[in-house]
Amino acid sequence: MPKPVKNVKSKSDGTKKGEIFALPKHFKNALTQCREQADKSPAKDVTYLWIAVSGKGVGKTGNENTNAVSLSPQDWLNVVDESASLGATWVVLTVSTKLSQFSDIWDICRWAQDTHGMMVGIHLGVDEVTPGDVENILSLNLSKLRLLVRSDSMEKLAFLEKQGLVLWTANPQQNGEKPNCQGPARMIYVNAEGRLYTCGLVEGKADYLMGSVLHDRLNHVIKSPSVKHCVQEDLHKVAPGCDGCPALIANYFTTNL
Ligand code: SF4
Repeated sequence: MPKPVKNVKSKSDGTKKGEIFALPKHFKNALTQCREQADKSPAKDVTYLWIAVSGKGVGKTGNENTNAVSLSPQDWLNVVDESASLGATWVVLTVSTKLSQFSDIWDICRWAQDTHGMMVGIHLGVDEVTPGDVENILSLNLSKLRLLVRSDSMEKLAFLEKQGLVLWTANPQQNGEKPNCQGPARMIYVNAEGRLYTCGLVEGKADYLMGSVLHDRLNHVIKSPSVKHCVQEDLHKVAPGCDGCPALIANYFTTNL
């Protein structure tokens, strides 16, 4: 993988200034509530970068929709660079299918660890690892690595602990509970197509779309008062979208952060 070049963002997506910020009244009210809630949060610095890896991005499965937007490996390294410049000390990659299908994530992990000294969490959505996966995992800096796996997969993957890996529970809370999380205000969440959402719980919901790493500077997005930096109360319940969330897991493994 080539060394990243300076991160230059294109503004040529055709979006007119202010177009995405023409908000209906009900959404403005929700935004105000949400902002008030976020303002109560004492921490404002970005700490976590959370990348959702799927067949649409960060490595190809060969089965993905060819119309899907795909970021280059260089784009992803730029996302890591920009997040680190904003204070991120953690990157979590949520891998939704078999790890072996995503060859590019190893360069992203190495870049985060070696260039920025970041801790890396690899969240295994599927608890199948091949000998090749293990070899790739062991090639990383293990002191700066955590494997995040669902609690019901812990036993199956316990053999990895014997190889020096630290496993953490990706779902420390039951579905339906109010998340004991730090909220999304300290986190940058990017889906596989580079779209920025408030957090994993609300990925795909138009109200929570914050922009795109292809067109927007992260610095602007995280400071923008026009996008939601928290999840509305009625949606704020633990669901599979919270699996692997660093802002949640951090509250359960504080001695290691
Ligand atoms: S994904 Fe869930 S746990 Fe994480 S910040 Fe959002 S609501 Fe909280």
